[in-house]
Amino acid sequence: MRGSLIVVSGPSGAGKGTLIEAALDEVPNLSFSVSATTRKPRPGEVDGRDYVFLSRETFEAWIEAGKFLEWAEYSGNLYGTPADQADKLLDAGRSVILDIELQGARQVRENRPDAVMVFVRAPSLEETQRRLEDRATETADAIRSRMTAARTAIAARDEFDFEIVNDDLATSRPAMVKLVEEIVRNPGIPISSQ
Ligand code: 5GP
Repeated sequence: MRGSLIVVSGPSGAGKGTLIEAALDEVPNLSFSVSATTRKPRPGEVDGRDYVFLSRETFEAWIEAGKFLEWAEYSGNLYGTPADQADKLLDAGRSVILDIELQGARQVRENRPDAVMVFVRAPSLEETQRRLEDRATETADAIRSRMTAARTAIAARDEFDFEIVNDDLATSRPAMVKLVEEIVRNPGIPISSQ
């Protein structure tokens, strides 16, 4: 039985990464799909673990070669999910979790109708902005561009199967773990909405 393909999307600064890490720690038989990007590594990010960091030229060659399950330009950089890695894991019966933005999430929904779509957001746009500023990994320009994308993403949240509002990690963390556990346990079976 192929594993479940789980798409996690939502505004930058929503805490997707933290919730995905919680799911990876606690849910057996689940792997993270490492994306490729042309963005420069942030301090502490490791090539091949957080992202595969590529030049724009190489990324474009990968697009030409049809290597991506989906890809998108976001805030001036290219991001994409290499298809072969995800498919190998799914074929081996493992579930795979993607952390991708809205345009990519829509491509996956088109190409893989069995994917389960999870939207993660902060309780408000003000809180999203505050988290981006606190994280201090982005320039003011990049924060502005991410906030524009955040507004677009929030407007599209009804396109998703599930939503987790990440207000307090004490509740959103177990909610995420429970949801992902259920999806992994029942590949291909729709779960009634929360
Ligand atoms: P960051 O630069 O903060 O790591 O990521 C910026 C945005 O790109 C996030 O919303 C993240 O979910 C998204 N992203 C990361 N990897 C991919 C990918 O492979 N494809 C797409 N479409 N978006 C991605």
